Amino acid sequence: MKIESYIRDIQDFPKKEILFKDITPLLNDPIATKNTVSVLVESLKGQKIDKVVGAESRGFFFGILLAQELNAGFVPVRKPKKLPYDTISATYELEYGTDSLEMHTDAIKKGDRVLIHDDVLATGGTAKAVCELVAKLGGVIVQCNFLMELTFLNGREKIKEHPIFAAITY
Ligand code: 5GP
Repeated sequence: MKIESYIRDIQDFPKKEILFKDITPLLNDPIATKNTVSVLVESLKGQKIDKVVGAESRGFFFGILLAQELNAGFVPVRKPKKLPYDTISATYELEYGTDSLEMHTDAIKKGDRVLIHDDVLATGGTAKAVCELVAKLGGVIVQCNFLMELTFLNGREKIKEHPIFAAITY
């Protein structure tokens, strides 16, 4: 099974000149979804994971499936003011301006072994902010994994101190 064949290119979404990689055809197919989870889990080579941290919002889909497969807890990282309990925050650069991401203060215990997951590694700003949140709470980042890496944007440079895996690279 080629995961690539379940990713759909959408031209000019969400803005002109952007070629958006749409993962909904993958989510729509249970066997392709299961196989994708296996590919991501195999990349960990049996390493123990306590928590899977998924970035809003497309990081939630496979993040939860990975957590279940790894017998780990799932932690959502969300846009500001979405989480109900006490939060910590990390700010990252956008093309114009900045944005923030938040995580609950009790989501990760010091020494927890953490897998960070998102659907796409583009410029790396999101993944870097998620890494900062995990580090603030004393989590040990075992790997940052993605369905796709857009290599021409060189996002891996921003998180190069951590192991990185992507099921597909463009
Ligand atoms: P970065 O912060 O690395 O520039 O962007 C990564 C974030 O933007 C991810 O959370 C991802 O969901 C979203 N993203 C950027 N480009 C795409 C894309 O082409 N397809 C999808 N599905 N998400 C994207």
